[in-house]
Amino acid sequence: MKPWWDIFNITSWLEDSLRPELESMAFVYSPQYNMNLLGHVFPAVKFSRIFELLSWDEHLSKFNVYYPEKVSTEDLQLVHTQEYLDDLLNLRNTKSTAYSEIPLNNEIVEAFLYAVGGTILATELTEKYEFVFNIGGGFHHSFPEHAEGFCYLNDVGVAAKKYLLKNPHHKILIVDLDVHQGNGNAVVFQDEPNVFTFSIHQENLYPIKQKSNLDIGLQDGCRDHEYLDKLRKALETIQKEFQPNLIYYVAGVDPYEYDLLGGLKLTKSGLGKRDLIVKNFAKHLRSKVVILTAGGYAQKTEDTVSLHLQTAQVFSRKEYGLL
Ligand SMILES: [Zn+2]
Repeated sequence: MKPWWDIFNITSWLEDSLRPELESMAFVYSPQYNMNLLGHVFPAVKFSRIFELLSWDEHLSKFNVYYPEKVSTEDLQLVHTQEYLDDLLNLRNTKSTAYSEIPLNNEIVEAFLYAVGGTILATELTEKYEFVFNIGGGFHHSFPEHAEGFCYLNDVGVAAKKYLLKNPHHKILIVDLDVHQGNGNAVVFQDEPNVFTFSIHQENLYPIKQKSNLDIGLQDGCRDHEYLDKLRKALETIQKEFQPNLIYYVAGVDPYEYDLLGGLKLTKSGLGKRDLIVKNFAKHLRSKVVILTAGGYAQKTEDTVSLHLQTAQVFSRKEYGLL
């Protein structure tokens, strides 16, 4: 957090003037994010790999990195039911936890507690930075009363509800570009007028769809041009009725053409342009952005890692704004 005396944001101005080619951005990460899922399709060791490559990168290594605490049970109750939290935190294999399709043990629950803490911290850091990238989170299939689709806890749900308690008149937009629909987020925010949920996803794919404020279901095999065109038009439409102070960008890289779970055909370059469209939209609206990694199941885990790093590059460097 900025020092108490810095009412004119002098520390941010100094940092920005020292690196004029870079955006106002920070990263959030915890070594606790990794999970050992032993051969599972979810490459849950990607988090430390992304961080490792980021630390070696000439540009990305210049940004501040912040380390979260675990989320408190009190904060989790902003979204999740006490009954579900009792099952999860006591590692009980019940119907409500089994939908996760991943194992239930102490290490994995800890990873989720840190991931939610990370999205809360990233949200708080938007007071100081334009873009904050949590190298984790985006667990958009988690419901208030049950786990689903590799997601035990809904990090965006908890962080957004906490933010709204502090900023009750602010508006939040969720831009969910993971290949799977953000069904958990749609349900968490269905009665929240200050949150607009928007999801572009493959229609003929998990999950059973819930109703977001705007859903765009794409046909199998959709390629760059159609995808980017629909994304641009959707954001234009949203902008006419909703001006967010804060955007959560659920930046899953599973629309990638070589993804094992998704059936869209976006290239690496197409995914970079997708990220740039979201960035430019946010800059145009002067909205802060919290970026989450969410899904990514490429045949080669290194591809998944490199696509997440590409998102970090696009948001971090001013030159991408000129493309
Ligand atoms: Zn996904």
